[in-house]
Amino acid sequence: VRGFEGRTVAVLGLGRSGLSVAHALEAGGAQAVAWDDGAAARERAEGEGIVLRDLTRAGAFEDVATLVVSPGIPHLYPAPHPVVVAAQAAGVPVDNDIGLFFRSFGGADFDRFDTVPRVIAVTGSNGKSTTSALIHHILQEAGRPAQLAGNIGRGVFDTQAARDGEVMVLELSSYQTELARALTPDVAVFTNLTPDHLDRHGGMGGYFAAKRRLFAEGGPDRAVIGVDEPEGRYLAGQLAEDGAEMRVIRISSGSKLDGPGWSVFARKGFLSEWRGGRQVASIDLRDIKGLPGAHNHQNACSAYGALRAVGLGPQAIERGFGSFPGLPHRSQHIAERDGVAFVNDSKATNVDSAAKALAAFSRIRWICGGLQKEGGLEALIPFFGHVAKAYVIGREAEAFARQLTGCEAEICGTMDVAVERAMAEAQAGETVLLSPAAASFDQYDSFERRGEDFAAEVKARL
Ligand code: ADP
Repeated sequence: VRGFEGRTVAVLGLGRSGLSVAHALEAGGAQAVAWDDGAAARERAEGEGIVLRDLTRAGAFEDVATLVVSPGIPHLYPAPHPVVVAAQAAGVPVDNDIGLFFRSFGGADFDRFDTVPRVIAVTGSNGKSTTSALIHHILQEAGRPAQLAGNIGRGVFDTQAARDGEVMVLELSSYQTELARALTPDVAVFTNLTPDHLDRHGGMGGYFAAKRRLFAEGGPDRAVIGVDEPEGRYLAGQLAEDGAEMRVIRISSGSKLDGPGWSVFARKGFLSEWRGGRQVASIDLRDIKGLPGAHNHQNACSAYGALRAVGLGPQAIERGFGSFPGLPHRSQHIAERDGVAFVNDSKATNVDSAAKALAAFSRIRWICGGLQKEGGLEALIPFFGHVAKAYVIGREAEAFARQLTGCEAEICGTMDVAVERAMAEAQAGETVLLSPAAASFDQYDSFERRGEDFAAEVKARL
């Protein structure tokens, strides 16, 4: 971290990113004083040589230049953490690791390296992790040094010092973009917008405001924007005015964008790139195993746009699509036998996500069930035509199965039985899909464990 030499910076929250921020501050010549409400986290930090300070006590902010808040801690909705309130009362600015990152490495300092954009930031409601990981994968396959960080399990200060010409790919949540005091990526990607996480942003308007901060004045050189919702269309329109048309790459899943600007869209399984009213590239996405379904075709378009913005050619991008392994537990292709594909979509803990997976495949042996969330399963009914049969797991498998109106279902109870039965009945051309439409906690610690169990049961029978 640069800009805080000799000054005191407070860090709230001592999870992974809090720890790495504290170390990075120290390395940059600042004094970090840190706090976490949990005694165990404090002890661990102390063990790493981090100086603790009780930020909840009066006067804790007297000598503090900035408070850095960790991602899991509410800074505004549903209610700000008391330490955030205390900092603001003391006139101390509140920031996060992303803000410190851009202040340290962004802007003018980059200009002395080369003309290649260096930070690609990905935001939006859905597909952030997939899009970020896909961009990172394709850069690496094309021989361009790249690092992946942000909301994807690795803090920005967990990365190695960026080398010349290296591209940093950052996945940013709306919480992160809302809090960061500096946001100056070279390429910003806005995938799409759906109403989730609304409680922490005070409704849809606040949520959109948090996301669009990434595109503020003096913002990115290039913006890649999903225009299938009105918010994206508005944002793209704002950025493209005054002849800055090529600053924006419009993305759509389903609509033909063949107007005068620059666009990338997916239709009927094909990705097309258009510039100035002419098609300049086309890629067949239909058989790409790592990117099944219309939602992933949208992710492919977003990644494609970002990669074109940093100067990669269509062929290099197409090669990278083909070798993308997919993200663990998100419609992840894990095996194939006798023409039957096995797909792990354990991350689908709710009906919306499972609907995406059911839409993505055509003849499905569907392993589903678990701890059901509120709202019933009606939203899945339109996709039951894709399901050859459901194999229901979970402690309440019977109650779950009863809601699968019009869909043949067998109560299996546990994963081993479900995999055994689905495998025994699957025909060539079908997909055995774990996409539970339910949480895992009735039988597992996490959706990751559930997905690993599925993969292990499949592999044991191959
Ligand atoms: P995020 O990082 O935004 O949570 P992920 O890439 O981790 O998104 O995908 C999580 C789940 O969200 C996927 O398993 C899929 O069900 C759904 N999803 C992924 N991409 C999209 C998209 N472009 N549009 C809608 N839903 C998507």
